[in-house]
Parts: sequence; structure tokens; C-alpha cells
Amino acid sequence: MKKIGKCLGMMSMFFVVVVLAACNTLSIEEVASVTVAPKVDNVSISTPALSARIDLAEDLYVREVRAGVFVITHAFPWPGNSMLVEMANGSLVLVDTPYTPEATQTVLKWASEQFGERDIVAINTGYHYDNLGGNAYLLEQGIPVYGSDLTAQLLAERGDALRAMTLDWLQDPADKAYYDAHASLPYVAPDHTFALEDGLHLTFGDEAVEVYFPGPTHAPDNVVVYFPDRKVLFGTCMIIGGDKVGNTSDADMAAWPESVRKLKRFDVEVVVPGHGERLDPQLIEHTVALTSRQ
Ligand SMILES: [Zn+2]
Repeated sequence: MKKIGKCLGMMSMFFVVVVLAACNTLSIEEVASVTVAPKVDNVSISTPALSARIDLAEDLYVREVRAGVFVITHAFPWPGNSMLVEMANGSLVLVDTPYTPEATQTVLKWASEQFGERDIVAINTGYHYDNLGGNAYLLEQGIPVYGSDLTAQLLAERGDALRAMTLDWLQDPADKAYYDAHASLPYVAPDHTFALEDGLHLTFGDEAVEVYFPGPTHAPDNVVVYFPDRKVLFGTCMIIGGDKVGNTSDADMAAWPESVRKLKRFDVEVVVPGHGERLDPQLIEHTVALTSRQ
């Protein structure tokens, strides 16, 4: 079987551009080669990357940030992160997808060239298209896609409104290609649902993956995905990688800081935000501080 499978905490689209533009982060090249001690004010990156950026397409690249842990960034047009992990038993776990089925196909093709044929399991961390825009391709390939019951429900209930809002952000004629792509982007729900409050525990050989819902944040259904053996946490769009909260139209601002505080239960060395290049554990406190100020 071949299977592989990213966050559309999409509310952020337009704002992400603003956030990224304003964000005081290192360049990709710097991230790839430099370790910077964390600072209290959260402007530095404490997580070294193993590899420099691997370009898969003009708007799509991968960085290996720990052995076997690949952060995928797709700009469509707003840069968003997903992640691919080579598990202890050789299976691949894809957390969220790039924005589109086509970009997801490109990532899986690269993965098959890297790893050969592998079992692939995908996990969606929310119903926004930066979480699951590639599901159509995954399901076509027979790849199981896990997501919460609320993710499936919200996609059905709020998908049309999300698409309309996104198209509003793409009215500039210069964005016509993105407008057209988002107008026809298939919104496909995960085919393996779990109860949000229960989360999900998966094992691959002797390696575990934990899917955890800490409470409402950027969106009502965002879950994090934790890889305990690697101390890697995919924080999706509930973790803010830039210096602004961004679009909060789907957010629970009262609950967000408290929900993210619960992530301190995890022993982490890498925290992957939904958007942005920082990957350091201080992103948790950074997000609590930013969302508390709203
Ligand atoms: Zn997002």
C-alpha cells in the first residue's frame, strides 16, 4: 500500500502574509545551519534544522528538522506548514496536507523517491483547507485520513463560508490563479473519524503518536499531534509562528490561551506552528502571551 498525507487554519490567509512580513524570524538558510539560544522575548530560534531547504516546486519546500521529521511548507499563496515523519516501523505519518491535492501529490512523489513504497497514514488537525486541502488525493490513493468528528462536521457546516471568505481575500487580479484554484479546491473530510474529546492514540511498531485536543483555539476543532519519542509537537494553527494573532473569525479568544497552556504537559524540543518558520518550544509561551493580549 502506498499512502501518505497538512493545516489550513485558514482563517489567517491574508493576515498570515502580514504576520510573516512583520515577523522577526531568521531566513530559511539561517534556520538550516544555525542554533540560536532561546531568548526570553521569543525572537530567536533554538531549534537547529538538519537539512537546508529542499525545493519540490516553486511554492513548495521541505526541511528535515530532526532525523526523519520533515516540515513541509506550501505557499498558496499564504505559507502554511504540514509535516511528514518516518516512523520506527517504516510507515510514514503525514500531519496535515499542503493546500491542494496537486501539491500533496508532489510531496508524496518526493517521499516515494526518498523512502520507496511505504504505508502512509494521514492526520488532519482541523477543517480549514490548510489542514486538509490535499485530502482528495490521499483518499484517491487509498491512504487512511484521520480527523475528529468535529472536523468532519465543521467542514460540512462552514466550508462554504470559509471558501467565500477566502475568495474575498483573493480579489486582486494578480491573484486570479489562486482565486480560481481556491474556488474549485475540493473540501474532503477525513475518512477515519475519532471523538474530539477523546483524541487519538496510534502506534507504529513501538513508536506512538498522540493526537490531543486541549480546548478551542484558532478554530473550534484544532488538535495537536505529538511524537513523544522525538519530542516533536505539531501545534498547527493554534500555535502562532509570527508576531500577530491573525484572523480570529473562527477563534475562541477567551479559551485560546488556556488551551495552549495545556500543551506544557508535553516534553518538546521542536514545536511546528501552522504558519511561520520558527520551530522552537518557546512558541507555546509566545502564543499564550499573544492571545492573552487580545
Ligand atoms: Zn492555518
